[in-house]
Amino acid sequence: MSNKNYKFGTKAIHAGAEPDPSTGAIMTPIFQTSTYVQESPGKHKGYAYARGKNPTREALQKNIAALESAKHCLCFSSGMGSMDAVIKLLRPGDEVITGDDLYGGSYRMFTKVFANYGIKFHFVNMTNAENITKFVNDKTKLIWAETPTNPTMQIVDIEACGEIAKKHNLILAVDNTFASPYLQNPLALGAHIVMHSVTKYLGGHSDVVMGALVMNDDKLFEQLAFIHNSCGATPGPMDSFLVMRGIKTLHLRMERHCFNGRKVAEFLKTHPKIEKIYWPGFTDHPNHSIAKKQMRDFGGMISIVLKGADLNETFKIASSFEVFSLAESLGGVESLINHPATMTHASIPKEEREKAGVVDNLLRLSVGAEDIEDLIDDLKKVLG
Ligand SMILES: *Cc1c(COP(=O)(O)O)cnc(C)c1O
Repeated sequence: MSNKNYKFGTKAIHAGAEPDPSTGAIMTPIFQTSTYVQESPGKHKGYAYARGKNPTREALQKNIAALESAKHCLCFSSGMGSMDAVIKLLRPGDEVITGDDLYGGSYRMFTKVFANYGIKFHFVNMTNAENITKFVNDKTKLIWAETPTNPTMQIVDIEACGEIAKKHNLILAVDNTFASPYLQNPLALGAHIVMHSVTKYLGGHSDVVMGALVMNDDKLFEQLAFIHNSCGATPGPMDSFLVMRGIKTLHLRMERHCFNGRKVAEFLKTHPKIEKIYWPGFTDHPNHSIAKKQMRDFGGMISIVLKGADLNETFKIASSFEVFSLAESLGGVESLINHPATMTHASIPKEEREKAGVVDNLLRLSVGAEDIEDLIDDLKKVLG
């Protein structure tokens, strides 16, 4: 595919994929090999060992870069593996400013792994950019933002973070997992690195664990590519193939996720059993105007607080759905329901998570791509 500036769906289907030169196969083959034969020592076709380079992975990386309208992409064996590479850009003594409503695994990696290496993390409410500025000092190197946040769907103003990063010469990395490149492109708003848990919307079928980093800056790419190959959290060719296949329908799936998400959110908003609902598409969501500015639509992730439900009743409700499956993860075509306090966010101390709104009667929905009537019926059947 040429470098012409094609629209999103066309890029999702075609970017990175070239007919296989040996057969003309339209789909990039699964290059299931660990090594490549050399003609004489060091003389090869650009491929020496598959941790460093694999053609299936390269095709996928080109595709994801195109979706973020970026120059470079590196795929990792998990979202956490990709974040790990970003933090490895830092040195002991460096400081990071990040949100107080992060994916539980991100919080765990920052506090339980990298804090031991002398890196300091400040967890602040990033919906107000002034909170970030307050913590900037000479040791600050990185702002790590996640938006929409997980699970309370707060929106961080990426452009405002980008201005702070520029002023103080910091790297701004944005976890774009919840929005997907279909809804939001942080590089265009001043971010230097975009991270995806590819496991979620990009893969889209709950069958692969993978991560990706996307960037324009050549120097940053070189540093991250060095860590990628040196530390080795690289994905295999079969997984790369599955994600390439998944991405071909990303735009179609996202349209349906957004449509179903809105219908489910509207149904739950006025439901007598719901005390609170978090979805950035509502005009009374506290950061709705920023969401509208930086996102193309509002997605299918919704969190709800059940009115007056204790832990037992919350568990009972979470386990009673038929179409929504009780499971961690999100972003697949199948609808999922999750209890953050004991599932995705269990590694965050109770006091910390309750401060961020992750109370015992909070449930998170990943609204899938099923027929909306069946989803609403399932909710009605359980909630009444
Ligand atoms: C799932 C997730 C991650 C971690 O990705 P894995 O692929 O599970 O390693 C990071 N951030 C967010 C927002 C996620 O949802």
